[in-house]
Amino acid sequence: MATAETKLQKPEFVNEPFVDFAKPENRAAMEAAMKKVASEFGREYPMYIAGQEVKTAEKMQSTNPSHPSQVIGVVQKASAEQAKQAIESAHEYFETWKRVPVEQRVDIIFRAASIVRQQKFELSALICYEVGKSWIEADADTAETIDFLEFYGREMLRMAGPQPLTPMKGEKNFLVYIPLGAGAVIPPWNFPAAIATGMTAAALVTGNTVVLKPSEESPVIARKMVGILYEAGIPKQALQFITGVGEVAGDALVKHPKTRFIAFTGSKDVGLLISEAAGKRQPGQLWIKRAVLEMGGKDATIVDEEADVDAAVEGVALAAFGYSGQKCSACSRAIVSEKVYDSFVQKLVERTNKVTVGPAEDPSNYMGPVVSEGALDGILKYIEVGKKEGKLLAGGGRAPGEGYFVQPTVIADVEPTARVAQEEIFGPVLTVIKARDFDHALEIANGTEFGLTGAVYSKNKAKLEKAQESFHVGNLYLNRKCTGAMVGAHPFGGFNMSGTDSKTGGKDYLHHFLQAKSIAEKV
Ligand code: NAD
Repeated sequence: MATAETKLQKPEFVNEPFVDFAKPENRAAMEAAMKKVASEFGREYPMYIAGQEVKTAEKMQSTNPSHPSQVIGVVQKASAEQAKQAIESAHEYFETWKRVPVEQRVDIIFRAASIVRQQKFELSALICYEVGKSWIEADADTAETIDFLEFYGREMLRMAGPQPLTPMKGEKNFLVYIPLGAGAVIPPWNFPAAIATGMTAAALVTGNTVVLKPSEESPVIARKMVGILYEAGIPKQALQFITGVGEVAGDALVKHPKTRFIAFTGSKDVGLLISEAAGKRQPGQLWIKRAVLEMGGKDATIVDEEADVDAAVEGVALAAFGYSGQKCSACSRAIVSEKVYDSFVQKLVERTNKVTVGPAEDPSNYMGPVVSEGALDGILKYIEVGKKEGKLLAGGGRAPGEGYFVQPTVIADVEPTARVAQEEIFGPVLTVIKARDFDHALEIANGTEFGLTGAVYSKNKAKLEKAQESFHVGNLYLNRKCTGAMVGAHPFGGFNMSGTDSKTGGKDYLHHFLQAKSIAEKV
């Protein structure tokens, strides 16, 4: 029962420190890990359904976007029938897993955190190879993975404790949080360790069972994390692992009547499909499926005329081009007061031209590739649209090399309603929009269907207060960049078409995986 007295004592949560790659010992550790991980390229990884290793006749390959001919791993291609078997087995095992004492589940999650910590460099190396993150970005992904495990473990202990209620005379009343059932966890590739692990760990630690179907672009990292969770003590039937195509295996999980919840992070279009499919009752379905949907963004940074323009240039450049703009929180619109527009644009272009692009394994490159050929084509098409909708001031095409490299691109003088100012591009493409004044800037910033992150640079307190009240985003940053949310400090999730605002890494998050039961006894 969730009210079990918890004996596990843990010090207060603190974020995992980032690795300082300026230190020779850390560089050497990362180089050794890169070699070790490279020696394992091309291995085949099975799925885990009903506790068994499963292979399929048809396979899928995961390749290195910096060197597309390098095969990181070969994975299975699950059929809809196999997805069905996995969720049915997870549904069956829920009866066992939900009875495992909270302390034991939490203990496993903490153990997983310490295994990740021991294998930190290897996990970061794999992230670097499979999805093209720089060392620094890969390390941040690994650190966030540890943070989610440590944070949700502690949160579960809190939620298992007594919950405050108004006392009722003549009654003993209490409230317990109980798990939901078997759920589908469907993550994206852009935080291939942190998001996949965060959603999975939150579901498991609360007593649910899970079928994890990772993105087609990052199955090997997901497989590594599943291996760590098994090693830590998660039973294979509690965490089933299938790889395959989203539209087939993912869709079958979402639509199955025994699926109790779906934890999804990904694009707006797929999120909406899932929302609709989850809302339709299937024959034999006993519950209303819960869909936790975290989706895309068109995140803006407002640069006010009273801003420190140099700080704004730096913040915008880092948020626009970090991980090649492939973060849901990436700054893709700079909305700049006309009074500082020219100087901001000039400085931004100079800063952009300093961004280095090339293979992610080389730490001298700030930006690695975009994740796939499909992503590359989509981004280049948007750049062509942008050339017509505004003035191209930096970048504008592919960068040299065999990988999927795109130049950091700045398109200025864009109308707020232009396609490149409205649609998520998910690449290193920044649009710059001129605003008459601060109110106009806010109106432009709020003028998309999204509402994920936003930043404001201004020294004027009244303007910052106005932004707090009316900049409609789930994560607002004042005088700092709009990327880099930290677990615990910046609970993360957006409004409108950016999703259900689940606030990952926050104290509300585990509620999505639990339901409350109120019990009152006459005394
Ligand atoms: P995506 O929507 O293409 O895929 C996400 C997942 O959904 C993958 O595992 C995919 O296999 C699966 N999928 C695809 N079609 C499906 C279907 N019909 N039914 C069930 N599952 C299906 O997104 P992506 O390209 O992997 O990730 C990038 C997107 O994720 C961007 O839009 C980005 O903004 C968003 N994102 C949002 C957040 C957030 O917290 N809001 C965080 C990271 C990424």
